[in-house]
This record gives sequence, structure tokens and C-alpha cells, in this order.
Amino acid sequence: TDRHAGKTALVTGGSRGIGRAISHRLAREGALVAVHYGHDLTAAERTVKEIQADGGRAFPVPAELGVPGDADALWAAFDEALAEQDAPAGLDILVNNAGITVPRPIAQVTEADYDRVFAVNTKAPFFIIQRGLDRLRDGGRIINISSVATRVAFPPIVSYTMTKAALDYLTLSLAQELGSRGITVNAVAPGYTETEINPTLAVPEIRRRYSEASTFGRLGDPADIADVVSFVASDDARWVTGQWIDASGGAHLG
Ligand code: NDP
Repeated sequence: TDRHAGKTALVTGGSRGIGRAISHRLAREGALVAVHYGHDLTAAERTVKEIQADGGRAFPVPAELGVPGDADALWAAFDEALAEQDAPAGLDILVNNAGITVPRPIAQVTEADYDRVFAVNTKAPFFIIQRGLDRLRDGGRIINISSVATRVAFPPIVSYTMTKAALDYLTLSLAQELGSRGITVNAVAPGYTETEINPTLAVPEIRRRYSEASTFGRLGDPADIADVVSFVASDDARWVTGQWIDASGGAHLG
């Protein structure tokens, strides 16, 4: 379909993993996609080229998140890169997807780990939204990528879980505040998904356990998440806001 035709989207961490699949899907359905990345320019350029080869429109936006001034740096880079495209200023769809994990139980989490994961996963989206609200058009979409970890107890990644739980309540508060502008704000929560964020997926035993956590008996593919995000970003989802939407393949249902 062309359900995102005429829309501009920004996908943080749009270069790799789940964000890459989201960028692809939104572009395939007509959006001009700003593919944000932090460090890996090669991956960002590859994703942009793939989208263009597919007939879509995309451009890279660099900004390291989790450092002071990150949100302003991101928007400055976005504004500059967008101006080079033949498109009006501003955007319609903001996907806060960039994130990192801390695969350690409470006993092993250092203060530096804790501060870092909150800086990237919670503080950055907060200020990206705050500084982006004047750019986001009425009727727009904010989609925060949460995690199934906020639905069930999973002690091995407790500090990460806390960052996503905070994002869930930012989602709820913002949905209430932005309704008057016709902007929906939702969280989409992946389960165990095949990306580079979790290197232990290469370990057969862990892979098997995470696959079996889904009622469908497999890991999530980034496209499984992207399809849900595309729906939430579309006009079809205009009556859905303030929600936490599971995209975990029925992980840990009972
Ligand atoms: P990946 O590690 O595959 O990709 C992460 C993306 O975020 C990259 O584009 C990366 O760009 C960007 N990024 C990471 N850190 C920074 C930073 N400090 N500054 C700027 N950009 C950054 O992750 P996933 O695709 O797996 O995860 C995407 C989202 O989904 C995250 O929020 C994650 O928490 C969530 N999620 C993932 C699950 C999974 O099983 N994979 C499960 C539940 C939720 P670059 O490399 O250039 O810095």
C-alpha cells in the first residue's frame, strides 16, 4: 500500500536490526524516512541504499545518543539533512527505537552501566520528543519501542527493563497531553527478536530457550515488529493511543 505517502518519518537507530526493518517498511509504503544512526555509518548507508534500490526515499541522520546535548544534535542533523531532500520541514512519524541493553543481574550492574542505559534508552527519547514537538505535525505519531520485559519478570536484564518501564509511562502521559493535537503516542513491545543487540542468540541453548518463549516457537524477525509499527503509524490506528502493544509472538503468555 501507499498508506504513508506524503509522510516524513524519523526512525532512531533506523540503520540496523528492528529499526532497519521499520525504516524499510515505512519507506515501502511511501514515507520519506530519516534513518538515524549513532556510530555505524556503513550500516546506515547500506540501509538507505537498500531502500532506494527498492524504490523508496530515505537519508541518513547521524547523532550519538546518551551524551549531553544529544537531542539537539539529532534534530540539527535531521533539519539539515531534510533540507537537502525535496521535502517540507517537519515530520509526521517519530519512532524512538535506538536502544542498548545491559545483560546483567542487579548484583553485577555498575553505576556506569545504569547511567548509560538510562541515558540512551530513556533520557534520549524524552528530550528527542520534547525538542521535536514543534517539528511534529498535528495528526502525527510517536511510537516508542518498549520490550516484553516490562510485562514479565526477567531479572537478567533488570536495569534495561527499568528504562523501558519508564518509557511506557512517558507514552501514557504524552498520549493524554497530545490528544488535542491529534497525535497518537503508543509503545510497541518486541519479544526475543533476531538482531545484533543480543550476541548470546548465537548460543544454541539460549537460542532454543528464547525461541520456545514464544507460543509460535521461534524468534521474532525484525519485520514482525516493523509490520506492527507501520500499522500504529498509519491512519488505520488513529483511534489507538496511550497503549502498550505486544509484538512478542505471544512470549511468556502463561
Ligand atoms: P540493534 O543493536 O540491532 O540496533 C540498535 C540501533 O540503535 C542501531 O541502529 C544503533 O546504531 C542504534 N544505537 C544504539 N546505541 C546508540 C547510541 N548510543 N546512539 C545512537 N544510536 C544508537 O538493536 P535492536 O534492533 O535489537 O533493538 C531496537 C530496539 O528494540 C531497542 O530499543 C531494543 O531495546 C528494543 N528491543 C529489542 C529486542 C530484541 O530482542 N532485539 C527485544 C525487545 C526490545 P549505531 O550502531 O550506529 O550506534
